[in-house]
Amino acid sequence: MTDRVIALVDAGRRKPLPPVADVAPGLTRDRLGRPMRDLRISVTDRCNFRCTYCMPREVFGADYRFLPHEQLLSFEEIARLANIFASQGIEKIRLTGGEPLLRRNIERLIEMLAAITLPDGKAMELTLTTNASLLERKARALKDAGLKRVTVSLDALDDPTFAAMNDAKFPVAKVLAGIDAADAVGLAPVKINMVVKRGVNEHSILPMAKRFKGSGHVLRFIEFMDVGATNGWRMDDVIPSSEIIRLIGAQMPLDPIDPNYPGEVAERWRYRDGSGEIGVISSVTQAFCRSCTRARISTEGMLYTCLFATTGYDFRALLRSDKSDTEIRAAVAAVWGARDDHYSEIRSAQTAPQRKIEMSYIGG
Ligand code: SAM
Ligand code: SF4
Ligand code: SF4
Repeated sequence: MTDRVIALVDAGRRKPLPPVADVAPGLTRDRLGRPMRDLRISVTDRCNFRCTYCMPREVFGADYRFLPHEQLLSFEEIARLANIFASQGIEKIRLTGGEPLLRRNIERLIEMLAAITLPDGKAMELTLTTNASLLERKARALKDAGLKRVTVSLDALDDPTFAAMNDAKFPVAKVLAGIDAADAVGLAPVKINMVVKRGVNEHSILPMAKRFKGSGHVLRFIEFMDVGATNGWRMDDVIPSSEIIRLIGAQMPLDPIDPNYPGEVAERWRYRDGSGEIGVISSVTQAFCRSCTRARISTEGMLYTCLFATTGYDFRALLRSDKSDTEIRAAVAAVWGARDDHYSEIRSAQTAPQRKIEMSYIGG
């Protein structure tokens, strides 16, 4: 085993559950008063891209050992856990990865999750983030299975810049075809995530804004983050969202608008001419920990309460034990109740190299 593999295995370190007490079903709040509302579920740690900011090829190369299938949560285990989370306040599930569309028969999982009803009788909001490499082919099946919307990652409109970001020879045209297919089957409005890295794709900011202005899709610019421990993050590579808004606003005037719901991470801006909106996700320059309502389940069933965590709680062990749903629900409530994460408020050059979980393992 090489050092590089150890980095990921280490980052999946387990920590013991906090004391678990009986709890009634219902909304759970953490130590900073934040409710648990969103659940991100990583369905695979594999990906066919090698984005330099997420799965750099030097680390995730040909000899990298991904998780064997039996270590992944099965669809039945994921659905059981999702139902338990739903009874403790989760209203929204996002499937992610790795590349979630690489997980075989993902439509079957979507059907199972779409069947979850919330305590108030509403349906679970079910979405998925994808690099869109397989979206054109799968959009119809995803929609039919009950998926509501998709978020597509796209960092540039020209092939050389796209390749410089994802280190894979995949044509931009195929991603755009995936977005069109999603739109055509009603997985809309499509959100498009663009990670911006100084000196690599910053020249794509304006072309991307122009391309999606008036399309009905919502383009969101994401500050390059120090997730994981392998992407060589430096503050100098981050383009602050404020700079992006100034750049776009100078050519296409923008006005700020209210969030869609409390705790929305993207700050919204509307084109003054009424041709749609964009968003900025300023995880680095404007921490939004105070309103962070997200729990995350890794591909192998570890529960993390922060994207920048170094340790998680082993819920696969609970699922594969004789614990009842009630006992597992109490464990979820105990973990959330003990949560005091606020990494983005304390990030520094010193915290960045910590052995945090990798983005491809936990999902964005
Ligand atoms: N493979 C899918 C995709 O790329 O959409 C889903 C998983 S990916 C980890 C989820 C999101 O995280 C993507 O939108 C990606 O751009 C974003 N992401 C990954 N690494 C990041 C980083 N270092 N900084 C900011 N965003 C990142
Ligand atoms: Fe794959 Fe998504 Fe990570 Fe890129 S950001 S390497 S597409 S998981
Ligand atoms: Fe939430 Fe952690 Fe990100 Fe803060 S740093 S917003 S607590 S995931």
